[in-house]
This record gives sequence, C-alpha cells and structure tokens, in this order.
Amino acid sequence: MQGRTMLDLGRRNELIVLDAVRHAPEGTSQSEVVSTSGLSRQAVSLITRRLREQGLVETDGTLAGGRGKPRTVLRIVPGARLAAGVHLDPSQIAVVLVDLLGRPVVHRSLPAPTDDPSGDIDRIAAALAEMQDGLEQEGWRTSHGETPREAMLGIGVASPGGIDVREGVVVNPPWLPGWWGVPLVALLEGATGLPVVLDKDTNAALTAETWSTGQQPGETVLYVFAGAGIGSAVSVGGRVHHGAGALAGEIGHLPTGLDGPMCGCGRRACLSRFTDLSALLAAAEQGATSPAEARGAVVPDAAGGQAAPGGAEGSAAALAALTRAAAAGDARLQGLLDSYGAALAEALRTLVGVHDPHRIVLGGPHWDALAPHVMPVIERRLRRDAPSERVVLESSRLGDDVGALGAAALFLQSELSPAGR
Ligand SMILES: [Zn+2]
Repeated sequence: MQGRTMLDLGRRNELIVLDAVRHAPEGTSQSEVVSTSGLSRQAVSLITRRLREQGLVETDGTLAGGRGKPRTVLRIVPGARLAAGVHLDPSQIAVVLVDLLGRPVVHRSLPAPTDDPSGDIDRIAAALAEMQDGLEQEGWRTSHGETPREAMLGIGVASPGGIDVREGVVVNPPWLPGWWGVPLVALLEGATGLPVVLDKDTNAALTAETWSTGQQPGETVLYVFAGAGIGSAVSVGGRVHHGAGALAGEIGHLPTGLDGPMCGCGRRACLSRFTDLSALLAAAEQGATSPAEARGAVVPDAAGGQAAPGGAEGSAAALAALTRAAAAGDARLQGLLDSYGAALAEALRTLVGVHDPHRIVLGGPHWDALAPHVMPVIERRLRRDAPSERVVLESSRLGDDVGALGAAALFLQSELSPAGR
C-alpha cells in the first residue's frame, strides 16, 4: 500500500465520487457529492465529467425541492459494466454475471467441483464465455455500444476456507477435498484473460449484502453463512475483517453450552455438530432427536481437514423434505430444527458479545429453507440478553445465489470501491 502515486490518488477520488453516486439509487446532485465526499467542487465537477464520458454515470433531469435553483440529477448507469461471480459450493458451482449494482444479469449452475480442479476451471471459463456470447446474441450492449466482453471488468471467486486470499490459492478447504493447493487465481486468469480475486464464501456473502444495500459509515454487520458448514464474517463501514490468515469467522467449533457430545477438537457440543447440513440430514435419517447425536456425519476438524460431505448434491432436496415434514407436524424433525436454531442462537449470543454488531444478517445456500423453521427459536433465545435486545436480526434478501452474487460484489468492490483499496 506504500508509495501511492498521484495517479492512484486521482483514481481513488474517482471511486469516492462513484461510490457516492452509487449509494443514491434515487439519484444525487453534484453539491450533495461535494458534501458527502469531502472533495472540492472543482474536483467533483471534473471527475463527474470523466465518469460521464466513461458511461458510468448519467445526468437525468433535475431534482426540484428545497430552495435555490433545481439541481441536475446524477445517477449510476448499472449496465455500464459487468462483473462475474463464481461460487465454489460443495454441491454445485454457481456462476453469475452482474451489473454495477451487483444485480444478476444472467445465472448458470454447473455440476459440483470434482477432484480435477483444472478441468473444473476450464468448465467455469467455458461457461463464462458462453454466458457473454449469449448476452451478445440477445443484443445486450452498454449505452456506449460496448459488447458484454468489452464491458466485463473481471471475476470474483468465493470458496469455502481455508484459502490464501493474498496469494489467490485454495489451500485446504475441508469441504472441497479435491481442491487442495490450487492456485485458482492464476489458473482462472490464464483461462479467461480477466483479472480474478478470491475470498471466502462468508466474506463474499457479506460483501453482496453491503454492496446492494449500502452500509452506514461505522456500521458493524455480522453475517452468518449457512452452507454445507457454517461460517461468519464481520464488516465495519463496508470493510470486511480478514484477520491474519483469512481464518476469521471459522466458528464451527464455537462451544454452544448445550447438551452435546465431545467433538474431535476437544470441546463439547460445538456449533458445527448442530448446524452442519450433513449432521442435520443424518440425524433426520437415523431417528436421532438432536443433530449432534448423528452418527457418521462429516464434521471437518478445526485445522481443516477430513473428507468430503458425501453426496452433497441432493442435500437441498433432502433438506426440503425435512422441513416439509416438520411443517406437516413431525415433532421429532421440528425438534431437530429447534436444536439447530438453539445452537445458532447460542453462538450468536457469544458473537454479539465479541463484535457488538448493529445488524446481524443470516443467509447462505440453505438459509431460505431453514429460516421459517429456525428464526423463531433464534429470536427467542437471542433476545434474552440485554446486549442482544436491540441488535437488528434479519434474513438475507439475496436468496440461494448469495455466494455467487457475493463473489461478483467482491470483484466490484476491489475494483470500484475506495473501501476495497
Ligand atoms: Zn469442535
């Protein structure tokens, strides 16, 4: 970060203005950008002109109201650029193209990652090329007439941990046993000719959340991601906390204080024993009364390593069947979901004590299925504590695709947000 040149500073100011305009979906004015950005009137005027020439910002009518003359409205042009997002989920590879606001333009779901990462990367590159070609054939162009290929900024990839964000390497994710030691960023850049950034799926999902809704300066958001395993992420003012080695948010072995068996990590009743999808589904199948009692469920250890969640495809269907049966009155299955909610609530109580967030967002590939069944329990337990009383608790509105959307938002942030620099 040292040795920032004048060029970098100019670029940074441009991003500050772009951010101010992007965070005002109804439009904003040059004077408002001057007051929110802290930049001089001349600088904002110059930068706005440059952004308009690039097609990123448009002027659109005037804002009346207030005193003085009506002001020209500045608005972001969402379709001026595209970015791609790739989510390496153990059960599928999701690929999306998004616009500048992080909204999906086209989506594709590829089969699960295999033991042949370079083959998988070729599949991803081929899918991206086809998606761009498809859009081009449909007549998609920016307002300046650029094709999808010309409008493409780059690719964000979201992977389960452990990964090395700085080196762009997938190191040893317990949920992707075929993907250990894969220099993903270098390989995907080579296969596509586009810049690539890599981060954890939890961090990606949180970035999607704050990219689309905006984040107040200084607002602390805690995100909990329910996928094959469970993870968390924290951001302050739109900046995700990474920790020393991108291991922040590996909360699977947080003790819940509930009744539960000893875990391989040496503690009792760890969160992941209740919330890993394989534990929940195995418990349902085995007639157990708590996910923690499931036998043979794969719970990766904290150091990152056992085997795969066998047959992760179809787990979404199994979860749907479970929640349907619970809703239809199966008390044992509802009890399993209650245990899931109770364990997650206990973990949240601990995390609220650590992070003191303004807002908690729950999401991930399986959250939409789980939420109606576990949210009431979480609400009840979480509100027991005074510090947790006023925290805003909400489900992500981005749905099952949040990993891929988040991956794309990661790239947008690294490229277009002053917070990403
Ligand atoms: Zn444990």
